[in-house]
Amino acid sequence: MSQHYAITMPQLSDTMTEGVVVTWEKQPGDRVERGDIVATVETDKAIMDVEVFKAGYLAGPLADVGATIAVGAALGYITDTAGDVAIAADEVVEEQAQTEMIPHHAGTPIVMPQLSDTMTEGVVVTWEKQPGDAIKRGDIVATVETDKAIMDVEVFQDGFLSGPIADVGSVVEVGHPMGFIVDDASKANDTGVTISSDHKVKDMHKVAPHAADKPANIPLPKTAPVQISTAGKVPPVARPAGRQASPYARKVAAQLGVNLAGLAGSGPAGVIVAADVARARPSMAEVAHSLPQVDVPGQGRPMTSMEKAVSHAMTASLTLPTFNVTTNIDIAALTSAAKANKVSVTVAIAKACSLAMAKFPRMNWAYQPVDKLVERGNHDFGVAVMSNDGGLVVPILHGIEKKPLEALQSDWTSLVERARVRKLSPSEYANPTFTISNMGMLGVSHFTAIPTPGIAAILAIAANGPQGTPFTITGDHRVLNGADVALYLATLKQTIEAPESWLGAGGTATAAETGAGAAAAVSAPVSPIPEGNWDVPVVVVGGGPGGEDCARDLADHGIKVMMVNNEPFPGGECLWRGCIPSKAWRAAADNIRNRAHDAEMGVDGTNAPELNWEQVEKHRRWVQTSRGEMALKADKGMKIDVREGYGEFVDAHTLKITPVEGQPYVVSFGAAVVATGAPAFVPPIPGARENLASGGVVTSDTIWNLANPPKKLGIVGGGVIGVEMAQIFRDFGTEVLMLERNDRILAEIEDEIAKTLIASLEKEITVVTGAAINEISGTPGAMKLRYANKECVESVFDCDIVLMATGKRPDTSRLNLDKVGVELDGAAIKVDTRCQTSAANIYAVGDVIGGYMLAHTAATQGRVAASNLLGHASEYDQDKDCGVTFSRPQAGFVGLSVAQAKAKGIDAVEAKMPMSIDAKAMITGETEGMIKLVADKASGRIIGVHFLADHTDTLIGTGVMMVAGEMTLTQVAKAIFPHPTQTELFGELARRLLNRLRRTAKK
Ligand SMILES: Cc1cc2nc3c(=O)[nH]c(=O)nc-3n(C[C@H](O)[C@H](O)[C@H](O)COP(=O)(O)OP(=O)(O)OC[C@H]3O[C@@H](n4cnc5c(N)ncnc54)[C@H](O)[C@@H]3O)c2cc1C
Repeated sequence: MSQHYAITMPQLSDTMTEGVVVTWEKQPGDRVERGDIVATVETDKAIMDVEVFKAGYLAGPLADVGATIAVGAALGYITDTAGDVAIAADEVVEEQAQTEMIPHHAGTPIVMPQLSDTMTEGVVVTWEKQPGDAIKRGDIVATVETDKAIMDVEVFQDGFLSGPIADVGSVVEVGHPMGFIVDDASKANDTGVTISSDHKVKDMHKVAPHAADKPANIPLPKTAPVQISTAGKVPPVARPAGRQASPYARKVAAQLGVNLAGLAGSGPAGVIVAADVARARPSMAEVAHSLPQVDVPGQGRPMTSMEKAVSHAMTASLTLPTFNVTTNIDIAALTSAAKANKVSVTVAIAKACSLAMAKFPRMNWAYQPVDKLVERGNHDFGVAVMSNDGGLVVPILHGIEKKPLEALQSDWTSLVERARVRKLSPSEYANPTFTISNMGMLGVSHFTAIPTPGIAAILAIAANGPQGTPFTITGDHRVLNGADVALYLATLKQTIEAPESWLGAGGTATAAETGAGAAAAVSAPVSPIPEGNWDVPVVVVGGGPGGEDCARDLADHGIKVMMVNNEPFPGGECLWRGCIPSKAWRAAADNIRNRAHDAEMGVDGTNAPELNWEQVEKHRRWVQTSRGEMALKADKGMKIDVREGYGEFVDAHTLKITPVEGQPYVVSFGAAVVATGAPAFVPPIPGARENLASGGVVTSDTIWNLANPPKKLGIVGGGVIGVEMAQIFRDFGTEVLMLERNDRILAEIEDEIAKTLIASLEKEITVVTGAAINEISGTPGAMKLRYANKECVESVFDCDIVLMATGKRPDTSRLNLDKVGVELDGAAIKVDTRCQTSAANIYAVGDVIGGYMLAHTAATQGRVAASNLLGHASEYDQDKDCGVTFSRPQAGFVGLSVAQAKAKGIDAVEAKMPMSIDAKAMITGETEGMIKLVADKASGRIIGVHFLADHTDTLIGTGVMMVAGEMTLTQVAKAIFPHPTQTELFGELARRLLNRLRRTAKK
């Protein structure tokens, strides 16, 4: 008697209770094999194929097309007897045919491309298009991770993306579909069916594409397919006994040394063809798996594609008979020459290896099976780089033998960026001719590297030691012998130690460069973010200009970064308590002050402006909140993981975060950047700290809550912040007394500029220098400031509030820096010019490191830290920094003053022009002040520009470009500046200084 099995409506998801029959793919009586699709049904999620795992014949009654069938109810039947087309009406079928639902597809499959010789499967990393999206030929629809890199999947057919698409994270076998293209948008399966990352598509997808659905879009691998050379006079091998083999297959077999006996033939009637022979050459995987395998206890997880590729290549390398040779090389001269020529040390070393190789070409050859040598002249060196996810990637610097250093540097910069995110094309990582691995940055004193089939030598560079930097070559003894390598290393040593002949003038290496600095420099292009299974590779503590710029730069370069800030919005002091609110007040004050010139220029009736404090505050707050929201949105858009909370170190790789609400938690990190700023510092003057709580004493952190501008304001401290505040409130109608302990206010500003500004200021407010503040007391609105002048005469200033403008000081007391080995220099964190602290994985930037406490300084240092964390050596150069004091007129500096230059041993000269001779300044009545140009007499290079002028905040940009661009007086003298603008003064100044230098040179 026939055995019958029910094909039941499967339950695809928890929510599915029924399905609708869409098609029957087989008819009653048709033969059904395991894995055949018999029908398609529509569920609440998608259209699915019903796949049957029971061989037999389809039998009715079949559910009608369009019928709704409950989950578990029969759709049709399978019988084991041919000709049995329907079961009896009263038969109860209890046995079920095993079924599986797989996403139904229509259209042309987008198959997982084979992007390298070794690739067998790929992981879907992103979909760049969504189901239903229109696709043009040449569009990138997805990115996939191969065993070597992350690659774009390009399609060569117009249409619309259709599901089911392999979910992000799915592993798809090469040649298997990862999505589909349909010719009409209405056919696109956009029901959201994705193949979950838990499923391997290769396991699920058993539907062979229909003949008409030939994959039309297989991206062409960019590497050439394996070529079998037919050159040479090797006689073909004999035909295997009783088997057919094509003459070409026999010839190839002879060249490759393949035994044809036992080889499966894929030609007509089983004839062995050349492709069968080529396949018989063992792959790295086959070699690796053919070795005896030793059992290891535990629950192993499958390796990822990349892990497998490395494992196979390393095991295959056991077929190479290798030996090691080490030479110590002094890289100091090369390091400094590379720096002077703006070339990374990695590129310089690669070039040196290539130059030495010109004399020892064997180093670049390779053994080829069987018993052949590939004599290559192209120097395509693989250079190991750490990728952002902690793995090693080996991008290839091509054509080193023929390209100049600048071109190589530019190739390298672009390669490294993509290597870090594994975005390399096959030609950028496949088939190097020699390899360089630099682990000096990890501090290893000696190591050897493993060459893989295809190269004869790999160079391992360790950290600089007392005898130099160890360069170890591991060579393939079938290609090289010990003497070859020893002589090569001797030539390489000469090349590296005397770089003048090929790397331009490098200058003499300094002591610092020959020590640890040299080791750091050589390793610079390798990211110092330590490898590890961290929650986040980099954590930035502080979201002011320093932290935010650092986080953005890292995120921009594909590094996952977390920014911990103990305020709801980024921006730090600059946005919430510093630059922005103070300049919003200054803008209102400017409008009041500027009216004073109106009458001079013939405009009457505007000289009695009134302050609308409520509106001033409303406008200021609008600017702040808008900018804060914009910044947060941009940060999140850039995928920075922004966390609100207070960060403190637990150890060198753990940060504790205490959020405003909820429990503290910890995150682990590879590297950290501290950018916590510096709050206002209040010295222990009697009554100063005590009156902070009442608001009788305010600082730059707390002045932003005033109900009204004070009628009388006492300011303690005559630095930039004190002066800016003094003039703002003076313009708002406040009577201001400024007390300064030192003999001069504005101590940080260039002498002549400061003196001129002070003279102006003293016409507007009372300034007492050499003052001793004895006590501050009272209540808000009735404060008493008791002080003595230079002559020790005591006075009391009655005022509404006292502003303590006594500087800013980093407060790192709660960061636990001692636990992580970060040293301090006074209150500030000690860093080098790369913003690295004494703990190798911790950087610090901005106000917290002292120096110029300015927003753009912090931001620049943030980018310097980011750059170093990315592996590109970068330094903060204070000699090119700048700043503006938003006084009236505004003071500004770029670079060095003459005094600062002289202190550094530079023979500096300056020229100055008063604003009073400038046409535009005369027109607008803004004739106060001057501009000064400082130049290095020897080179004529402009090294400083100093300002006291209205509109310095705009004019200074020109000065910044001159100093940053290291322009000479001659260049600026020849530049054409527009008339009438104040910028004309720059040309005048340069010509004046040049003339003076010419005249004095003649004497
Ligand atoms: C009144 C005034 C006017 C100014 N005007 C100018 C100007 O015109 N031009 C100019 O260039 N500069 C100006 N500055 C200086 C400028 O504000 C600072 O130099 C700049 O903000 C410093 O940036 P930063 O990133 O180092 O620190 P900050 O801007 O101070 O940012 C640090 C951030 O870290 C957070 N933080 C601190 N500790 C932690 C922790 N443990 N965990 C988490 N988060 C933490 C803070 O809350 C803050 O958000 C002015 C300053 C003041 C006070």
